[in-house]
Amino acid sequence: MFLRMIVTGIVVILFGVLGTLGFVGVKKNADLGKELSKVAVEVKAQGKEIAHLKEELAALEKKGHGGKDGHGGAPHWAYEGEFGPEHWGKQFATCGNGKSQSPVNITAPFEKAAVAIKPDYKPGMLKLVNNGHTVQVIVPPGSKLKVGEESYDLVQYHFHRPSEEQIDGKPMAMVMHMVHKSADGKLAVIGVLMRESAVQNRALWAIWKHMPKAQGPEVEVPSVSINPAQLLPESQAHYAYEGSLTTPPCTEGVKFFIMKNPIGIQKEMIDSFPFKMNARPVQPLNGRKISAS
Ligand SMILES: [Zn+2]
Repeated sequence: MFLRMIVTGIVVILFGVLGTLGFVGVKKNADLGKELSKVAVEVKAQGKEIAHLKEELAALEKKGHGGKDGHGGAPHWAYEGEFGPEHWGKQFATCGNGKSQSPVNITAPFEKAAVAIKPDYKPGMLKLVNNGHTVQVIVPPGSKLKVGEESYDLVQYHFHRPSEEQIDGKPMAMVMHMVHKSADGKLAVIGVLMRESAVQNRALWAIWKHMPKAQGPEVEVPSVSINPAQLLPESQAHYAYEGSLTTPPCTEGVKFFIMKNPIGIQKEMIDSFPFKMNARPVQPLNGRKISAS
């Protein structure tokens, strides 16, 4: 009897212990389950975070490498430092490996010029922009240039300091590039060298007066009308050669006509031009011939 009681007691105790253990086990399992779902939620959140970071990284990469397609900001280039002319070729292949690049040093011997140029410019409202590389005057439609039988429209003109072109190894104070485009997209540039002079060119003065000092949007000046013809020297004697854009992407197949006679610009105007140096160094001729009219 006593033994039975002991055995029963032991069994009861055992059941009790097992029951407790079992309960604890169930509780533990429930906790573990909760813990697991918590971890799952965290993993999911981290997954989202990683996806978000990946997106951000992709966006940053696009920005940094400056898509040639124009997405994610324009590629960066400059006239000095790590983005200067000697590095343009990394982002713009033609700037580095082109064989007909501009500007050039203009020096004898010259060939006889084969085609005549005939500018036919009209007055129009002054509209200009500081694009961070130069100051550019945007020309309204109507101003034409004839090169032989081909017709071009004057689209814009802009300035470089000092002149990009050199004459016998020497640059001038500044140069104006008048950019013309034909209906089928060909480019012809008239370069007008600018020499320091006390004589005032009124059209030039009007442009300088409204010149935006810092990079920004286009500025319209309805009260000012400019005839680009007033920015040309009297004589149309010029040098001619085949070259390229002097800024990235350095596209080739551009006809250049550099006027032999410079126009004058006053010293204070040269000094107040917003860019101290925005000229690409001269490029090798690589067998190209320069003609003179
Ligand atoms: Zn230019």
